[in-house]
Amino acid sequence: MSLKEKLVEHIRENGPMTVAEYMGACLYDPEDGYYATRPAIGGANADFLTAPEASQMFGELIGLWCAHEWDLLGKPAFNLIELGPGRGVLMQDVLRATQRLEGFHDAANIVLVETSAPLRDEQADRIPDAEWALRLDDAPPGPSLIIGNEFLDCMPIRQFIAGEEGWHEKLVGLDEADQLVFGLSAAIPAPDSEDEPGTVREIAPALEALIYEIERRLHEAPARVLLIDYGYVRPEGADTLQALKNHKKVDRTETPGEADLTAHVDFARVAQLAEQAGLAVHGPITQAQFLRGLGIEVRHDTLAQANPAHAERLKRELNRLIGADQMGALFKVICLSSPNLPPPAGF
Ligand code: SAH
Repeated sequence: MSLKEKLVEHIRENGPMTVAEYMGACLYDPEDGYYATRPAIGGANADFLTAPEASQMFGELIGLWCAHEWDLLGKPAFNLIELGPGRGVLMQDVLRATQRLEGFHDAANIVLVETSAPLRDEQADRIPDAEWALRLDDAPPGPSLIIGNEFLDCMPIRQFIAGEEGWHEKLVGLDEADQLVFGLSAAIPAPDSEDEPGTVREIAPALEALIYEIERRLHEAPARVLLIDYGYVRPEGADTLQALKNHKKVDRTETPGEADLTAHVDFARVAQLAEQAGLAVHGPITQAQFLRGLGIEVRHDTLAQANPAHAERLKRELNRLIGADQMGALFKVICLSSPNLPPPAGF
C-alpha cells in the first residue's frame, strides 16, 4: 500500500488530519516517508540543492566559525554536533577546514543527529569517526558546538487562516473522488484578532520542542548553536508550505512521501523562545551578511587565484551563496548561546 493509500484510509476512518500530521507522515513515515525512502539532496537527480552541496566555501567558513568559537570556549573537549547532516558534506568540509588546527580534531566528539537510515549510511561513508543520535537530547552532555543547515524547515507546521468568524485550522481531507485535498476546520472564535481574513499563521510544535532541548543543553554547559535556514523575521501572513521534487515545486497533496515537504522558518519565534529562556541571541541576519562577515569574498579570491581554471565556477558558487536573488537574502542565520559567552564571529 502506498503512503497515499494509507493516508486516504486513515482519513476515511479518523477524519481530516492537521497539516502537521500530514507533513510528519510525508517526511517521517517509517516505511514510505520521504526521508526514510528517497531523500535526494545533492547531485543531478536531486530534489533540492543545499548550500554545502552548492559550494565547499560554505562548509569551510562554518569550519572556521567552529574553530573560532572553540577557542572562545577555552578549547575544551567538546561535542561537535550537526542537526540533520544530509549527505555529510557540510561536516566533511568543516573537518577539512579545521584539519591543521592544533588540538581541534582531538577535542571534538562528532555527533550527527539524523533520523533517516539511508542518509546515515551516506554520512558514515564521509565521516566514519562520528557517532549518531536520533535527537539532540541523546547527544552526550558537556560543552558543545551545534550546527544545523536546512534542518528547521523540516519541522511540521500547523496552519491557521483568519476568517470572518475567527480562525480556521487548515486540514487535509478527501474530496468526492477520494483524493487528498486541503480544507478548513470550523471557525475557532478569536474576538481580539486584528488579522485580515485570509491571513495565514503557521506554528511548528516540533520546532518549539527542539528549542527547549537546546535551552536545556545550553544552560547545562557552555555551548552555542548556529542555525541556517530559509525563513522570515517578520511573518507575512502567507502560506509557506512547499513540496519540491527534482528542483521544481509540485502539488503538495498529489505525491505524498515522494517530494520534500518544507515550510519557511519563523526566526522571530526562535529568537523569542530563546530569549525567554535566558539564552543569548545573535541575529537573525541574512546568509549574505553572515558569510561576508566571515570573509567569504576573500576566501573566494584566494581559491580563484589558486585555481584559475575554476574561476567561473567559483564565481557562480559565490553568487549562489550570497546573491540577493539566490540564497543570500531568503536564508537567515541565527546563533543561540549559553549566557555570558563573548559574541560569536560573523554577527
Ligand atoms: N544539512 C544538510 C541536509 C538538509 S535536509 C544540507 O545542508 O545539505 C534535512 C536533513 O535533516 C536530512 O538529513 C534529514 O534526514 C534530517 N532530518 C529531518 N528531520 C529530522 C529530525 N526530526 N530529526 C533528525 N534529523 C532530521
